[in-house]
Amino acid sequence: MNISRAKGTKDIFFDDMKIWQYVEENIKEICIKHNIDQIRTPIFEDTTLFSRSVGDETDIVNKEMYTFLDKGNRSITLRPELTAGVVRAYIENGFSSMLTPIKLWYIGTMYRYEKMQKGRYREFSQFGIEVFGSDSYLADIEVISVAYELFKKLRISDKIALKINSIGCSKCRAKYIDTLKEYLVDKIDNMCDDCKIRYVKNPMRIIDCKQDKCKSAKQNLPMITDYLCDDCSKDFESLKQTLFDVGIEYEIDKTIVRGLDYYNKTVFEFISKDLGLAVGGGGRYDTLVEVLGGTHTPAIGFGLGMDRIILLLKEYELVKNNRNVDIYFIIFDSNIFPKVFKLTNDLRDLGYIIDIDICNRSFNAQLKYASKIKARYICIIGEDELKENLCGLKNMNTSEQIKVDMSAEEIGNILK
Ligand code: AMP
Repeated sequence: MNISRAKGTKDIFFDDMKIWQYVEENIKEICIKHNIDQIRTPIFEDTTLFSRSVGDETDIVNKEMYTFLDKGNRSITLRPELTAGVVRAYIENGFSSMLTPIKLWYIGTMYRYEKMQKGRYREFSQFGIEVFGSDSYLADIEVISVAYELFKKLRISDKIALKINSIGCSKCRAKYIDTLKEYLVDKIDNMCDDCKIRYVKNPMRIIDCKQDKCKSAKQNLPMITDYLCDDCSKDFESLKQTLFDVGIEYEIDKTIVRGLDYYNKTVFEFISKDLGLAVGGGGRYDTLVEVLGGTHTPAIGFGLGMDRIILLLKEYELVKNNRNVDIYFIIFDSNIFPKVFKLTNDLRDLGYIIDIDICNRSFNAQLKYASKIKARYICIIGEDELKENLCGLKNMNTSEQIKVDMSAEEIGNILK
């Protein structure tokens, strides 16, 4: 019996892989230009890292984590998100004693045992940024603008809505939570079981419960934005004004509280306007470094769903045409391979995509192959060509054929 891939995972290859590479190259370029450093952290971490940071009462920790005991009896979890791992790395590697701000980006796979649907997998990838050491709303702008630039570069910025909210700091939130609980006290018995637990442990998470049962109870909920303290309110105003000033369109969505426990102040989501899917989300987490054992460090970040970005690019057919092979080398027999080895590599050094027969196929079979892969040119080399130090270069579009010196520069001049 054949072995299939595990449910919720996928293989990425050929044309799809090229789209992934195209997105990843753009991410890398944008991050370099923003002076953001790349970080890689382990795919698995100590389970406590996630229960302590993401929150014991979240669906992620409660229902979705891939947790197991390793052979040393340690509880290990495949990362369900990456902020916690980056914060752990920040503390463990002493980043707090380095020059601030520390700006980091990552791309990696995450693991959540979720119900499968369009754009929802059990193994998925996120591109994320985490910025440590600034409590200014300017850091919020910087982080949001990186995502915005990526969307612009990929030509999907008009297809994605940025929704922002402020969920305040611990000071203003305490007052708000009292009011929220008071409002819900005679309604909670008719709400879902998860909300009953949230009511006790983290009442704000009731706001983004999607259960029909809870909808009517939430119709006139008091909203945190009406309870922000002066500092949080001023910050939120500055954020909105600056987003406007720099030309990043946004909407205020008071229902955004984010699914994870560690957020405070600015929270945001990027939503696909047509598909209604969340493409990404993030926010401030000024207390998380402390919660995980470090010194107080304000921080903000986002995670964008790579799989969903790719989905949008395919949906709107926005992917650039991929480059074909520039020259396919047709060799008369295998002895010729080592003799053209340097030439093929010199051409690759000049930036051309070069391919050559590695199957010992007949001349005609090589010709057919070159035409199937839509090579721009073929370069035919046999013993005679080697003796003359010339090769036959054929333009596959025009069928024009010429003899050129077997030098990368000469051939490169023709290809330009
Ligand atoms: P979250 O960490 O839950 O805020 O997710 C951030 C982004 O990651 C979401 O907006 C999605 O684009 C993406 N994402 C989250 N969960 C999944 C999943 N199971 N499959 C694919 N993408 C996901």
